[in-house]
Amino acid sequence: MASSKLMPFAYFRGKVRPADSARVSIAVHSLQYGTACFTGIRGFLRDGKIRLFRVRDHFDRLMNSVKIIGFDFDMTYEEFDAMLAEMVKKNQPTSDLYVRPFVFTEEEVLTPRVDQMKFELATYMIPLGDYLDTTRGLKLMTSTYQKFSDSTVSVKAKANGMYLHSSLARTQANQHGYDEALVMDHNWNLVEGSGENIMIVYRGEVIMPPTGSSMLEGITIRTVIDFLREEGIPIRFEPIDRSMAYTCDELLLTGTAAQVLFAESLDRRPISKTMGPVATMLRKKFAEVIEMKHKKSKEWVNEYVI
Ligand code: PMP
Repeated sequence: MASSKLMPFAYFRGKVRPADSARVSIAVHSLQYGTACFTGIRGFLRDGKIRLFRVRDHFDRLMNSVKIIGFDFDMTYEEFDAMLAEMVKKNQPTSDLYVRPFVFTEEEVLTPRVDQMKFELATYMIPLGDYLDTTRGLKLMTSTYQKFSDSTVSVKAKANGMYLHSSLARTQANQHGYDEALVMDHNWNLVEGSGENIMIVYRGEVIMPPTGSSMLEGITIRTVIDFLREEGIPIRFEPIDRSMAYTCDELLLTGTAAQVLFAESLDRRPISKTMGPVATMLRKKFAEVIEMKHKKSKEWVNEYVI
């Protein structure tokens, strides 16, 4: 299991300070009701610097989550970027890492409403290698936990409370001997994993759930869309039912932590024993971006001096 060995410095109450001094009361609203939003950014240690992937897009999604849920919080991209630069300098990372910025409240309010409270940003960093095993295909399970829809909780907000659903699905899959869960929406279409978007290679085309489906809009899958277009591979945004997934050529999961992974099977129906051509191409392109060899590298990668 990916555990969190916090790096020594965190951003908390407006400044970078020792992580073990970043403490809140047990009564804070964010802890009691899950009223917080977050994002997760991957960092790569290269040439004595930390390269963070698509920081601007992560910031925009975080601020959109704040807007969707209606938290009273504001910050500029420049402030966010400066905070990350200071975190990298203070933490002196010696490996690849993961950055977890989140917006939460320290208010000890009992009423479950989000207005009339002040929200603030905090950030921690952890070393992170592979989150799921990237050397083999994953054994997936269709979860019995149905994904909530936007009419129930705003699915496009990456809000902490939503991850109770992910936790139930992932725990169930792992306890049944699978690596990861895929969740279905109210129409019984597959929409995403517990922490990843999904796509299938089906009859020579790539199919992804429509953006308006009950899923988070991942920054990794947006990158994948660019890579597929670059290669001239047709993409269709259409519902994916379970039978299509059972009979596809490749079933892929994408996410910041997971990156690009392929499924060996879904519900014990074999899909592919080895990594297919689309997954192989996508992984290669991701590596090119991080090695600053892709035409989008400059746009997508921020370098921070250690
Ligand atoms: N769906 C869910 C539920 C997630 O938690 C994540 C991870 N943030 C994703 C999809 C993939 O998003 P991203 O590529 O931005 O990490």
